Amino acid sequence: MSDALDRLDLLDLDDELDCDDRLLRDTVRKFADDRLRPNIRQWFEDGTLPARELAQEFGSLGVLGMHLEGYGCQGAKASQYGLVCAEVEAVDSGLRSLVSVQGSLAMYSIWAYGSEEQKQRWLPGMAAGELIGCFGLTEPDSGSDPGSMRTNARRDGDDWVLNGGKMWITNGSLSDVAVVWARTDEGIRGFLVEQGMPGFTATDVHHKISLRASVTSQLFFDDVRLPADAMLPNVRGLKGPLGCLTEARFGIINGVTGAARDALASTLEYAGSRTQFGKPIAGFQLTQRKLAEMAVQLQQLQLTARRLGELKDAGRIKPHQISVGKFANVRGALEICREARSILGGSGITTEYPVLRHAVNLETVYTYEGTHEVHTLVIGSQLTGLDAFR
Ligand code: FAD
Repeated sequence: MSDALDRLDLLDLDDELDCDDRLLRDTVRKFADDRLRPNIRQWFEDGTLPARELAQEFGSLGVLGMHLEGYGCQGAKASQYGLVCAEVEAVDSGLRSLVSVQGSLAMYSIWAYGSEEQKQRWLPGMAAGELIGCFGLTEPDSGSDPGSMRTNARRDGDDWVLNGGKMWITNGSLSDVAVVWARTDEGIRGFLVEQGMPGFTATDVHHKISLRASVTSQLFFDDVRLPADAMLPNVRGLKGPLGCLTEARFGIINGVTGAARDALASTLEYAGSRTQFGKPIAGFQLTQRKLAEMAVQLQQLQLTARRLGELKDAGRIKPHQISVGKFANVRGALEICREARSILGGSGITTEYPVLRHAVNLETVYTYEGTHEVHTLVIGSQLTGLDAFR
């Protein structure tokens, strides 16, 4: 596979990595090859994941919330976090979701908007993977339009009382702490809801054909009584959850390049070894055209991710640029996986090869953290100054 990876690096992008970045990339790649890759097929087929174990292993690697400062986090560059996401998603988007929901959504919410006590209490354990978090924004009737959420918290003395429910929540039933966004009489606020609190329950979503190696849950809040200090004090309004999503989308932009690269690398190898009409199918012009289109497209996705990493490391990234990355990279990765599948012929429809698994996973990635259409509208609004959401 490493020969195929070398051949796919047409523009020598690897040469631009410095020693630290290369060491990090190789360490995570080795973990992925030794620990994740041999098991992913089974986890995906069974629709299960040893998520607690894996969280601790990711914690030991130092990749959970790695781009945050302090509280047991590494304070790494955003571009380094991007490299990690690509290596993990080269195995499976569900595994990258475990890492990025923990670090970019749950931990980032607490890190950016929490009190000092909340940060001390949760972040070191979450960085170590001993505690798991989730991020509850979407509801059954409130997806692309989170401002329409119905989950609400009302004051009762010093406490808050939370009612409502959240849908499609990654890591939901596993979580020690759920970051829950709710409507209050002072606008939308974030709350830390702990597992085991009376009135808080979670059930898993079954029968998924995408992101099977990931826990997806529905959360229910029935008069959950929360102390005053369960509220995240430092943000109010939709900009709270949207700020977290901007963080997490950066991980997606990088991660999906890993899924596309893995699909293409295994396809390149297959095309070299599969013989029809007396020669390897890689030797047919029609196959080479597909391979060339996909390899060039992959490099473009990687360049987009790299540019956004530079902007983020320089503290200059803007939300519409994140939308450009999510729009371009998820669509591009999905196109690569679909086209790659055709080269595998019948073998491409099984889990023996990772290609269609990546493609069906990317269907979720196309939809979550802002659907492709929502990011189209963000770019359209940036270009025209006209908002077409309503
Ligand atoms: P809808 O919003 O109903 O959209 C349906 C279609 O209508 C889409 O094509 C959409 O683009 C289109 N549409 C909507 N509005 C417009 C418009 N104005 N103009 C044009 N088209 C429009 N959420 C969380 O909060 N936390 C999580 O951890 C999380 N994990 C997830 C994991 C999985 C496996 C999945 C599938 C989802 C997850 N989500 C999570 C939810 C995800 O973010 C939502 O599914 C997504 O925001 C879309 O919402 P929806 O599914 O309700 O679709």
